[in-house]
Amino acid sequence: MIPFAFGDVTVTRVVEIPRSAYPTASMLPDSTPETIARHDAWLRPHFYDESTGDLGSRIQTWVVRMPGRTILIDTGVGNGKTRHESPLWNQRQGTWLDDLAAVGVRPEQVDTVVCTHLHVDHVGWNTRLEGGRWVPTFPQARYVIPGEEWEFWTWEAAEGREASGCIADSVTPIVEAGGAALVDARHEIAPGLRFEPTPGHTPGHVAVRLTTPAGEAVFSGDLMHRTVQVAEPQWSSRFCHDPVHARKTRQAFIESHADTATLILPAHFPKPGYIIRAPEGFRFRPA
Ligand SMILES: [Zn+2]
Repeated sequence: MIPFAFGDVTVTRVVEIPRSAYPTASMLPDSTPETIARHDAWLRPHFYDESTGDLGSRIQTWVVRMPGRTILIDTGVGNGKTRHESPLWNQRQGTWLDDLAAVGVRPEQVDTVVCTHLHVDHVGWNTRLEGGRWVPTFPQARYVIPGEEWEFWTWEAAEGREASGCIADSVTPIVEAGGAALVDARHEIAPGLRFEPTPGHTPGHVAVRLTTPAGEAVFSGDLMHRTVQVAEPQWSSRFCHDPVHARKTRQAFIESHADTATLILPAHFPKPGYIIRAPEGFRFRPA
């Protein structure tokens, strides 16, 4: 993917895993293979994965560079972590750090790491294993985390309701090392880059809006998981904490961004793009 440029701000991505552990109809419990297939005409070929016969999906990190700043948005699954959810995730030994280096980013260069929410596939590379301990992967970085997420998930973990273990191995070590900034849902991360509350998928889920004189973009996290949700925004995912709230947030977001020049970069879409209003309903046009 060619980097996107907004004046002196560039956006690049690093893909960690090029597919999902869950088929779309299982990820979106209100959908069926038949209702998804109604959208084939616009979903193919850009948002489709012929190798799986399903909609495309990625676990990926967005790299935002602006003068003097290198910012990562969401950090995937990570390496060496015990993850019983998926063999693709468990004790993974992937090349993500090398792939980050290939786009010109060494860990020491990263000044800010942003988590849109604290799910297992968004916090993994926050830490890496060193001498039997989980340590921050990015030693110079401030990790910017919605405070409401931290409060909610530490409570869930304490009550035994966070099955993956990602808070213990990928978030708590950052907080204990003093590297976390637990912030409110409208926090300004950098000039022109700020959080925006988009609750529902998780209680403190945020999007990250980039506003520049040269254009606007939104890193929408897990507000949507699969491209078909642009046309069927009532379909929440199996991992949405409050599916009804997630639906309302998603519907409002799609309405307000349709037919605008705002580039939308969802965490798991195979390509970023633009929301458009077609005669038949909302669609997503690849950038
Ligand atoms: Zn996710």
